[in-house]
Amino acid sequence: MDNEYYSNFIDASNKAINNSSSGSYKLKEDDANTLPANSPLLVHLANSLCKSIENMDEELARFEKNYTSSNNSIFWATDYNDVFIFLKKIIKLQRARRVRLPNINSSTIFRELGIKYFLKDENLTLSDDADIQFFAVDMMFSDSGSLLLLNQSNNTLSKLTNTSTNIFFATIDSLCNSSSLAEILQQEISYRLGGARQDMIIFKSSPNCNNYLFIIDNQRTNILKDSFLRQSLTCINCGRCNDVCPIYQTIGDEPYNNVFVGPIASITLPYLETFESYKHVPYACTLCGRCEKVCPLSLPIRDLIIHVRSSFLAEGILDKSDRRLMAVMRKISFSRNKLNGARFLKKHLFLKHASPSLRKNRSLPPLAHETFNKSFKKKQNNA
Ligand code: SF4
Ligand code: SF4
Repeated sequence: MDNEYYSNFIDASNKAINNSSSGSYKLKEDDANTLPANSPLLVHLANSLCKSIENMDEELARFEKNYTSSNNSIFWATDYNDVFIFLKKIIKLQRARRVRLPNINSSTIFRELGIKYFLKDENLTLSDDADIQFFAVDMMFSDSGSLLLLNQSNNTLSKLTNTSTNIFFATIDSLCNSSSLAEILQQEISYRLGGARQDMIIFKSSPNCNNYLFIIDNQRTNILKDSFLRQSLTCINCGRCNDVCPIYQTIGDEPYNNVFVGPIASITLPYLETFESYKHVPYACTLCGRCEKVCPLSLPIRDLIIHVRSSFLAEGILDKSDRRLMAVMRKISFSRNKLNGARFLKKHLFLKHASPSLRKNRSLPPLAHETFNKSFKKKQNNA
């Protein structure tokens, strides 16, 4: 039982990459961070992820069959509570007191689950030499039943075979139907972790260990129900869109009060949390389209945001005062005179019509001294 077990697996993945029908799926080192959004490799990745999400029930069943064929176990969890109930049982069974948890701060799923608080409540301590270790899964490959683990330290490979219990955490949308895409996923997801390609482990099994995998829904099926919106679940959370979004660059993480931030959160947050607390986020967007230009999957982020806004209107999720504010804003936007009006008047109108919940979640940024139209005209007159 040694590293050979894993390298065999990685070889298999590379073989699949080399044998792919188009012959262009092998990523070269010098491609790092340079692939244009419409390159065949990225188009292929986007199509595979879309197919995986479209056929999620079949692909998850295929993954389960392949993953459990190596004596691994899967726990299906609807939400955090399910995870913690089973987790407590496993910890009790293993009599574990110490946990090894690489990447506790950089993994979205650990922050989403609030794993730090769980460890504290259960009096578990973090240690590199532990009885049990937790891993965030970056992707589940349904064709092989294997897991993509990124950003791992050098000794993780040996620890995967020497620690008595390995526990993996994945969400239902971390799903890809082809292991041959491991390398391009490694490249694209690495952006979030600082750009340089992160070390990758493709894990299939370690026969002498107990390997448990939690597959967590946590409200993602709310998004899956909508046939247009579900493509947002293919997002690999690379973070490129955050870096170019003028809204996110201005307001930062804080107003979201959540693990999910930026353009993709404007689409998914109301469904992952509650409409009441997050109905304002789809409006934190100017529809400029900069996010779409850098998205490796070419996700139609603007159309998705507009779709969420329309669904809110159709389903009556916006209350009367939100609608009134929108009507006022519309009136102002369509009138040059009103747009050029005094700052204090525009501020007054916003504060008068914005609902208390909107005012609570979004403060009005300082308005410009004069509109672009006015300053442009002034410049022309002075020229
Ligand atoms: S379209 Fe919206 S979400 Fe995308 S970059 Fe522009 S403001 Fe941000
Ligand atoms: S929407 Fe696109 S660019 Fe933004 S995090 Fe997801 S995959 Fe990356």
